[in-house]
Amino acid sequence: PSPLSTWAQNIAPSPTLAVDAKAKALLAAGEDVCGFAAGEPDFDTPDHIKEAAAAALKSGKTKYAPTPGIQPLREAIAEDYAARLGLKVAPAQVIVSPGGKFSCYLSILAVCSPGDEVIIPAPYWVSYPEMVKLAGATPKFVLADDTTGFRLTPAQLEAAITPRTKLLILNSPSNPTGAVYTRAELEAIVEVALRHNLYIMSDEIYEHLLYDGAKHVSPATFSKEAGARTIIVSGFSKTYSMTGWRLGTTVAPASIAKAVAELQSQTSSNATTFAQYGALAALKEKEKTKAALDAMLVAFDRRRKFLHAELNKIAGVKCLLAQGAFYLFPNISSFGLNSSEFCDRLLDQQRVAAVFGSAFGADGYLRLSYATSDEIIKKGVERLASFCANLK
Ligand code: PLP
Repeated sequence: PSPLSTWAQNIAPSPTLAVDAKAKALLAAGEDVCGFAAGEPDFDTPDHIKEAAAAALKSGKTKYAPTPGIQPLREAIAEDYAARLGLKVAPAQVIVSPGGKFSCYLSILAVCSPGDEVIIPAPYWVSYPEMVKLAGATPKFVLADDTTGFRLTPAQLEAAITPRTKLLILNSPSNPTGAVYTRAELEAIVEVALRHNLYIMSDEIYEHLLYDGAKHVSPATFSKEAGARTIIVSGFSKTYSMTGWRLGTTVAPASIAKAVAELQSQTSSNATTFAQYGALAALKEKEKTKAALDAMLVAFDRRRKFLHAELNKIAGVKCLLAQGAFYLFPNISSFGLNSSEFCDRLLDQQRVAAVFGSAFGADGYLRLSYATSDEIIKKGVERLASFCANLK
């Protein structure tokens, strides 16, 4: 048969989904696996959101909707940005897509052409480089390791920019590290990006999952110029435990929003119509939503602190206390194994599933998701400790 396309040959399958699938298959086969690989909250979607979607389904919201999203949802998202971040956007600047992943992809397609370079700070979310390549553009990685708290410095950014650089991807709070930029840090980075006329895709999907009083800031709010160059991607998956609903959002300058909508109109059409009514309830029934989110944050924060403390008790492991998302990214470089070998052996010998740092462009680390039960975290970290003790 003739060969498959360049796209098919060059795409790397998602390593996070692969590790999680392997862990789930072992579990299904009756193995006692402690899974730290999942990128989703272990809570169910709050009832009021499910009920709103069920009511919409029952009442016949089963047809195509406008490509960029149902109007009341676009309005509610615009109001939410104004209320929370003081960002004034028209509903026309808001696009609802089938998942934040697709929002990212369409945003990249809207601004990148073949030959363009895109700066991706590492450790990065696994899908960015693949999406950039699918747009025909070239990813340029800049490693921001634990010595800078996994945060890119303005000097690192400056050094990576070339005349071909078109876009900078930022992700705070971060997957995989949980790192959160302060306002001052982000302002300094945005200043460099604007001076070089870059677009910024700010992936803010973990914006509500913050601890220790950390505050979410968006580059789009810094100045008129910053607003004109920033594409905000977010979504309902992580904040409201709605990963399976596939609802992502893009908030962008009008011309980019229009391009995203047009790309979406030819590739997927609207996000599932009745699901959007559930999302609308998430934004409209504020008190119920806040109660559900607060309960989730209490559990995440407790697990974060516990896992962090236990990891740092293990000789040879060093872990920063991240202030966002639901991941920790311990440094395991002292064991002299590459991270993929470390994770393979950890799963084989101890039945602990974690994702290797090299999947995120940072060998020598592991990504552990604490979006799982307290018991699994306790048991899993004990097993990790004995695994490490045997390596020493
Ligand atoms: N961006 C980041 C950094 C993520 O971690 C994820 C999910 O893993 C997404 C975007 C996309 O989420 P979804 O497609 O479920 O909305």
